[in-house]
Amino acid sequence: MTLAKVLARARAGMDLEREEIITLLETADPEERSQIYETAEALTLYYLGPEVHLRGLVEFSNYCTRNCNYCGLRADNHRLNRYRMTSEEIVAVAEQIELMGLKTIVLQSGEDYWYTLEMMTRIIQEIKQKTNLAITLSLGEREFTELKAWKEVGADRYLLKHETVNPDIFAEIKPDSSYEHRLGILDQLSQLGYQVGSGGMIALPGQSLTDLADDLLFIRTNKIGMAGFGPFIPHGDTPYRGYPSGSGELSLLMLAVARIVLRQVHLPATTALETLLQDGRRRALEVGANVIMPNFTPLEYRKLYEIYPNKAQTSLDEVREVILSLGRIVGTDSGDVLI
Ligand code: SAM
Ligand code: SF4
Repeated sequence: MTLAKVLARARAGMDLEREEIITLLETADPEERSQIYETAEALTLYYLGPEVHLRGLVEFSNYCTRNCNYCGLRADNHRLNRYRMTSEEIVAVAEQIELMGLKTIVLQSGEDYWYTLEMMTRIIQEIKQKTNLAITLSLGEREFTELKAWKEVGADRYLLKHETVNPDIFAEIKPDSSYEHRLGILDQLSQLGYQVGSGGMIALPGQSLTDLADDLLFIRTNKIGMAGFGPFIPHGDTPYRGYPSGSGELSLLMLAVARIVLRQVHLPATTALETLLQDGRRRALEVGANVIMPNFTPLEYRKLYEIYPNKAQTSLDEVREVILSLGRIVGTDSGDVLI
């Protein structure tokens, strides 16, 4: 099928087939890529309007029990200085995030069991008592009893990327995780009533465009409401130090195709894309992104949350300026998922 036909079917609201998604991802001609970008932008405005939702990110611990081969926080990286924020520090940042006008806090960390069920419960309760923020958790593969308890005290969303839907690549990149277990947790989260976010990395060793198409089908089939796709960026203190970085241009194309395939799913302009691509945040907003996660991690800790090197930093003012300069507006509600 020609590109024009695929894009016409997408504009008519049809579910694209696997082969059609691969056709989009294989598009190399700049003129044809522009047609994909224009369609993605039109569909963003049609399904979601001009609102861009801001989520305040707090990376509260860089301790991790796991050894993912791609990530600088892996347990065996002994060159990294580790930190943990106290409950008081986390709640204080939450109050600051609300003061700055944001509606959602994202609490992210390595997989760090020092934060017990009870401790996270108290943190969530306190944030809920002191603010009106929606709470997104991104704490890795925690136990069902924990996920249930945190939902009951007010956690709204959970972000757990499937990373790649190719089981062989998953086994290579996350040697101490189980593919079935991680996907099973995504099911548990939906059953518990969380708004669920997932997603993956682009240009992992051995990954093909077909794998990326399957990643998008995974999100669509499982009715996942948020999906973050960003390029893999190698970190010098990991076993993957010698692999090439993902391409910024392919990551931008993947974002546009994600919008075309997934319609009203929330798609962030990822920090990894901003890190690799000049003006990446603006370009992401132009081709399908409707979420940005400004970083509120206190500066002394931020540089230690080094999942990959040279992470892009953008201030809240810059983010607001980019949104407005594109004729978009900053979302004024909590930006719940729409599916
Ligand atoms: N520990 C939790 C987990 O793994 O789900 C949450 C924190 S983890 C740092 C958040 C995300 O960072 C991962 O889901 C992964 O996609 C991304 N990430 C880690 N290392 C990366 C790298 N080298 N390049 C690009 N993304 C990376
Ligand atoms: Fe730990 Fe998450 Fe990094 Fe894996 S990706 S090493 S679980 S922080």
